[in-house]
Amino acid sequence: MKCKICDHNQCKVLFSKKGKDQNLYYIVKCKSCGVIQTYPQPEEIKHLYQKEYFERRTDRGYNNYLSEKLKNQLIKVWELNLNDLNFYQYENKIFQRELKPKLLEIGCAAGYFLEYMKNRHWEVMGVEISEEMCEFAQKQFHLNVINTDFLSLNFDYKSNFNCIVLWASIEHFKDPISVFKKVYDLLKDKGIFIFSTCRWGILAKIQKEKWRFMNVPEHLFFFNEKQLTKILHEIGFKKVSMITYGSGLTAKPEMNFFYKLSKTILDKVVKLINQGDMLAMMFIKEK
Ligand SMILES: [Zn+2]
Repeated sequence: MKCKICDHNQCKVLFSKKGKDQNLYYIVKCKSCGVIQTYPQPEEIKHLYQKEYFERRTDRGYNNYLSEKLKNQLIKVWELNLNDLNFYQYENKIFQRELKPKLLEIGCAAGYFLEYMKNRHWEVMGVEISEEMCEFAQKQFHLNVINTDFLSLNFDYKSNFNCIVLWASIEHFKDPISVFKKVYDLLKDKGIFIFSTCRWGILAKIQKEKWRFMNVPEHLFFFNEKQLTKILHEIGFKKVSMITYGSGLTAKPEMNFFYKLSKTILDKVVKLINQGDMLAMMFIKEK
């Protein structure tokens, strides 16, 4: 198979895993760029993200995405990420230049993050592949959310945005390089690009097919920060900041005391030693 990132034609199979569609998928590593990829990619991916994806929490998808509790949890994580990435300082600078800066979120689901940023006086717009989520964001928060695949979004928006955000969705795209390039084109000069994704590091390498983010065939790419920095530099971005977080233990409603305690301690440790199984990065468009 050909690497979807660098076009190199040799990949090494690391292991295989049965997907929720009962098909067998191979997790392979490109011998040139090192990016981990799911093979084969599903033909069509839109059907993976219909209503039930957001209602169920098995190890994939969400346990009722539309609950108030989950909304508050998500906002807490985003705030922490933005703070750790030093975003609020950049936000200040942007507001010194512009009264109503524009933000685009790719894969905005129910629109919680857009709503949060709208309250911080951004003019917000979202793109979401799930019809139900789109409808919810439009009805509940009166947000400008377009029901389409990001790569089909109209190019009238070229050089339009001061900030583009992609929370935990780049790993779902069949062609992440095109996504990054499009983000670059849609940003204004000095515009900011923020994203998070699951991180291929120690925790992933140890747990392999049991790793909490090894969800096939939804997750198609597993990067580390070094690979992402290189890819984005080549497109024309400059790295501003990077954090890792998450110990591999998922928050569960039925957590007992010891699980909770282990999770709290481990979450702190991996953050300290930069070995979390999630990463978030902030880049600036600079040519
Ligand atoms: Zn490659």
